[in-house]
Amino acid sequence: MMQPIHLFYPQLNNPSKIIIVSHQKPDGDAMGSSLGLYHFLIQLGHTVNVISPTNWANFLNWMPGVEHVIDFEKNQEKCNQLIQSANIIFCLDFNVLYRTKHVAPLIEAVNCIKILIDHHQEPQVDAFTYGISNTAKSSTCEMVYDFIVDSGNASTLNINIATCLYTGTMTDTGSFRFPSTTASVHKMVAHFKEIGLEHAIIHDNIYDNFLENRLRFIGFVLCNRLEVLYEYNTALMYVYKQDLYKYDIKTGDTEGLVNYLLTIEGIKFGAIVIDREEERKWSFRSKGNFDVNTFARLHFEGGGHKNASGGRTDDNVEDTVKRFKQTIKQYEQELQ
Ligand code: 5GP
Ligand code: MN
Repeated sequence: MMQPIHLFYPQLNNPSKIIIVSHQKPDGDAMGSSLGLYHFLIQLGHTVNVISPTNWANFLNWMPGVEHVIDFEKNQEKCNQLIQSANIIFCLDFNVLYRTKHVAPLIEAVNCIKILIDHHQEPQVDAFTYGISNTAKSSTCEMVYDFIVDSGNASTLNINIATCLYTGTMTDTGSFRFPSTTASVHKMVAHFKEIGLEHAIIHDNIYDNFLENRLRFIGFVLCNRLEVLYEYNTALMYVYKQDLYKYDIKTGDTEGLVNYLLTIEGIKFGAIVIDREEERKWSFRSKGNFDVNTFARLHFEGGGHKNASGGRTDDNVEDTVKRFKQTIKQYEQELQ
């Protein structure tokens, strides 16, 4: 059973072979927390390797240290060896091991210290030796900052750590606007500014760094793939494989698309399904009390947070959209 993370602090000073792993298709928070932790741990003399279960969005490729991140799908043998010989595995920004896709069985099989730092609901506590799970936290990046400070290592904070941790906090808080943006978040950012963080360039690198085709793709799907179900205060979008091919859409290009749905006045529930190679992947967002974590768990093999979650299905786009429309009928009251 997962022990409180502070019980691990004394071991931080024994140089170890450490692996850091986050969820598949890592987002800003997953990549930011992994690299922030990396820049911290190498200062303590550890041998650190960061593994991503899959590839990631191009807009993360400017991040300090990203050149050290190993894509599991492209280096399975090497990753396997690294995991076999690790003393400690840090698991960041996911609650259940299956979020690491094909890395999950390898983590499960090795007998070493496994540490969870995460802010999603219902963590798989039996899978970890130590950990901290706090759904009130804005981001895993903020939790890595707490980990560094609480373990007595605030003096190691440098510009690389600050840049990485700021990135994930910014992306997971919708640029500091979601309710999860607490005073602690702003205090952390103030601390980063004091050590020289340049925040404006980070926003540019993440949000203003796309190709023209992505903007045209967004225009296309907003015009052609959007349905507003006013009786349920719900907006729904579906993207076909042919749309992704037509506009040459890559990993990360569809991130944030779901947020457009909630910009419509009165809409409380936004749902988008994207036709991926091996599955149809849902993203759910809500405003207020409608709990999309539970919705994703119950109906689409997923989970996440109360106001942001995801899920999947093997059904084709038409069938899953049909089932979605059928399913929300039972939530008519809650969505009023
Ligand atoms: P996104 O829509 O940005 O991919 O995901 C929103 C949130 O839901 C993220 O916090 C993500 O970790 C979580 N999430 C997305 N897909 C899944 C899933 O299939 N299972 C679980 N448990 N969480 C998911
Ligand atoms: Mn996160």
